[in-house]
Amino acid sequence: MSRPSDRLRVAMQKSGRLSDPARNLLKQAGFQFRSNDKDQLFCYGDGCAVDLVLVRDDDIPQLIAENVCDLGIVGRNVLQEKALELRGTSHAGLQELMPLAFGGCRLSLAVPNGLDWRGPSDLDGRRIATSYPELLGEYLQARGIDADIVALKGSVEIAIKLGKADAICDLVSSGATLVANGLKETEILLQSEAVLACQNTPFGDGRDALLADFLARIDGVMKVQASKLILCQTGKRELNAVLRLLPDAAAPVISPVWGDDEALNVQALCTSAVTWQRLEAMKSAGARGLMVLPVEKLLA
Ligand code: ATP
Ligand code: ZN
Repeated sequence: MSRPSDRLRVAMQKSGRLSDPARNLLKQAGFQFRSNDKDQLFCYGDGCAVDLVLVRDDDIPQLIAENVCDLGIVGRNVLQEKALELRGTSHAGLQELMPLAFGGCRLSLAVPNGLDWRGPSDLDGRRIATSYPELLGEYLQARGIDADIVALKGSVEIAIKLGKADAICDLVSSGATLVANGLKETEILLQSEAVLACQNTPFGDGRDALLADFLARIDGVMKVQASKLILCQTGKRELNAVLRLLPDAAAPVISPVWGDDEALNVQALCTSAVTWQRLEAMKSAGARGLMVLPVEKLLA
């Protein structure tokens, strides 16, 4: 099915863990939509060439592969599982364009607390319940482990209690659900977070330029979230020691201080955490009047 080339259609989760952060991200990037009513499945872009399709997260990769949507915001876990599922079919291939730094979790193997775990080969001949049969199958195959995969849509964590499996492979974030079910995490198969996904070939029409603009704006928001502007003064002799504590600042601006030949102003855009420890280290290295400012917008 061909898609109109003058608009981008973005699929995201209708309701669930990823929906609010995904909407916030688009809002921060300046994209607005005509309806904010979550019950509406299609929202037209208001003053922008981007429209939203609100669906179950599991459907997002296929909507992209079938050319119904151009982009999607979805967990890496779902993207990779569906990409494996669609492998060898006539559907377009999928790719991860950008990690989005929310929805963090991991796909892990877990076994009952009482089990003495020596390594993945302990799973030989066992039954493992999961909603990610493709990712688990690939993991087992790579290690030559012969286990039965019990594919379940949900409630994986109680499969062992129900006698359906000996181990599980499921998403974990805090680990509290595993503990509550008497399980321990033994191996991590995949570190996941929400990502921006699309087909793995260019559109070959006007959407390529729309996508480049879209990515630049999202990238700007991601950088803003991580960025802080540090302002301070230091002496000429201490400058190098202070700059060594700013390795993430691409091109710090160094300027003279009016009426003081020995002093310099330092202005640095930092892209990783500016902690109190770092500020204290800068002070010890000779920085004075340290000031940390949030960044509101960035466009490279
Ligand atoms: P849907 O109705 O859209 O199918 P769902 O129940 O499959 O919703 P959610 O529970 O909202 O989905 O999870 C969506 C995504 O959030 C997951 O695929 C995963 O990428 C991420 N996530 C982050 N932490 C967790 C967690 N602790 N458990 C499950 N998913 C998590
Ligand atoms: Zn789902």
